[in-house]
Amino acid sequence: MTGVVELMDYDDVVARFDPVLGLEVHVELSTNTKMFCGCPTAFGAEPNTQVCPTCLGLPGSLPALNGTAVESAIRIGLALNCSIAEWCRFARKNYFYPDMPKNFQTSQYDEPIAFDGYLDVTLEDGEVVRVGIERAHMEEDTGKSLHVGGATGRIHGADYSLLDYNRAGVPLIEIVTKPITGTGARAPEVARAYVTALRDLLKALDVSDVRMDQGSLRCDANVSLMAKDATEFGTRTETKNVNSLRSVERAVRHEMTRQAALLAAGGSILQETRHFDEATGTTSAGRRKETSEDYRYFPEPDLVPIAPSREWVDELRGTLPEMPWERRKRIQADWGLSDAELRDLVNVGAVDLIAATADAGAPPAEARSWWVSYLAQQANTRGVELAELPITPAQVAAVIALVADGALTKALAREVVDGVLAGEGEPAEVVERRGLKVVSDDSALYAAVDEALAAQPDVAAKIRDGKHAAAGAIVGAVMKATKGQADAKRVRELVLERCQ
Ligand SMILES: [Zn+2]
Repeated sequence: MTGVVELMDYDDVVARFDPVLGLEVHVELSTNTKMFCGCPTAFGAEPNTQVCPTCLGLPGSLPALNGTAVESAIRIGLALNCSIAEWCRFARKNYFYPDMPKNFQTSQYDEPIAFDGYLDVTLEDGEVVRVGIERAHMEEDTGKSLHVGGATGRIHGADYSLLDYNRAGVPLIEIVTKPITGTGARAPEVARAYVTALRDLLKALDVSDVRMDQGSLRCDANVSLMAKDATEFGTRTETKNVNSLRSVERAVRHEMTRQAALLAAGGSILQETRHFDEATGTTSAGRRKETSEDYRYFPEPDLVPIAPSREWVDELRGTLPEMPWERRKRIQADWGLSDAELRDLVNVGAVDLIAATADAGAPPAEARSWWVSYLAQQANTRGVELAELPITPAQVAAVIALVADGALTKALAREVVDGVLAGEGEPAEVVERRGLKVVSDDSALYAAVDEALAAQPDVAAKIRDGKHAAAGAIVGAVMKATKGQADAKRVRELVLERCQ
């Protein structure tokens, strides 16, 4: 199909239709080894160096289940308020794809390890939406295809394709929501807020590094529309692998306006997968969606069923960390923030960063000031989220400590932060390399003060006459002479002392 895609004005969409969402999030677990073999899982290794007969699907190889992955799956299920299966199995999902060497994916089908839970999601204005969780099941990742040549990086138009099986067999948890209804115009925002909340939760559980940019957290967004008087859900499309929080929101919004225009013109929606194009913010048709019958699921004969004992599940429940929303409540009380102040920090993604900076030893007020002012400006300039800045809370805490010790002035501290952001290493290394130490040696400062007084004799005379306000000019000259590396307060003391 070619031609311009018609879109309906968003206000008209929500006046005529109710959107229904279904979000499927795949999270790669940060286990050391793969789901069914001992191969390492590190990101970014040379292609096809982290493989073995099992994850390459060679004849005669047998899987052995990764216990840590099961543990993580149960902890995720518990954190999402799910029931944990007393007995469940893996299943084979049969299909051919070049990046899946076994020609089936070992997954879970009708017996997921966790099911029937919910996650409460807070929107930007503080409204809370409860998102039902249908299931969280275990499966393995596929390898990666790299399509070379052609403009889009997709298989169409490519000259040839390369395969990397390093990712084949990496443990995945797929988390599927129940249909999300009743969100109306806020559906795109709810989708984004849900993925954000889920990411924060998984991070707190320390089960994944949840990097959307590296694909360790991937979202597929199912969207359908119901006419206002309809009683049944419409046909849905599934936009695959949307790889940033902002894109989740944009993809849902685009699908709503596209489907509405099609339906209003008397057309029908094809059940299909779609691709999201970051550059244009639009989706395009992928493959016609298979039904589950097409996959010929059957129980995996090479793995025994999993029957987590209730004692083990309770034990794992005891390992759950403070949840992000509990942490926020505590922080709000500790820091004495109003609801609006907390929400502002949450909306710029600063709460956990500030808390982690405080945990690393910085006074919370100082930590907050750095993250919401200078670092927020840097993130803005670079067009990235605060958390994506290449500086850690521990590094920010180290800079704050250097200021508190008097080793750095505020101005020098900003230079150190610039150095860390530029990849020059830890704060102490930047201080060393850029020569950013505060001149605290009084004899060096006396020399600079005397020089400045000699250069401005009229100002010196005023100070001697008791006009202390005039000292500012001399302090300024000394600061300039020491390239801002002197402690201005100390310089002022020395100026007044010299003029007594
Ligand atoms: Zn392997």
